[in-house]
Amino acid sequence: AMCDFCKIASHEINANIVYEDESIMAFLDYEPINEGHILIIPKEHLLDIDEISDKLLYSMLDLSKRIVSSLKKVYSPEGYTIMQNGGAFNDLGHYHLHVFPRYKDDGFGWTDSGMQHDCSMEAALKIKENL
Ligand code: ZN
Repeated sequence: AMCDFCKIASHEINANIVYEDESIMAFLDYEPINEGHILIIPKEHLLDIDEISDKLLYSMLDLSKRIVSSLKKVYSPEGYTIMQNGGAFNDLGHYHLHVFPRYKDDGFGWTDSGMQHDCSMEAALKIKENL
């Protein structure tokens, strides 16, 4: 069975599309953080950033840049956020890049759990050695 984003990519489900070409699509999120909240997806069913070809990733990043310019013109926001959740934190199981305008009083943010985590050079080295 196709996921909802594959259905949108194949026009089986309607979305308010702002951009489409042969490999990617951008449309309004149906549960927006702010008006103008856009999702950019690859048409192919892929999940994580490290499964996506450089060419495809770049096309989505380039589109995010163009969308930010458009959002600035349309909404004159105080800023913008671009974010992407992977693995179990991608609730649809299909890669999507969020792009949305931001305002200082919009209430959006991440929460601090208060837990302590290692940010030492030792932690940096574990990642560095696997690059
Ligand atoms: Zn899919």
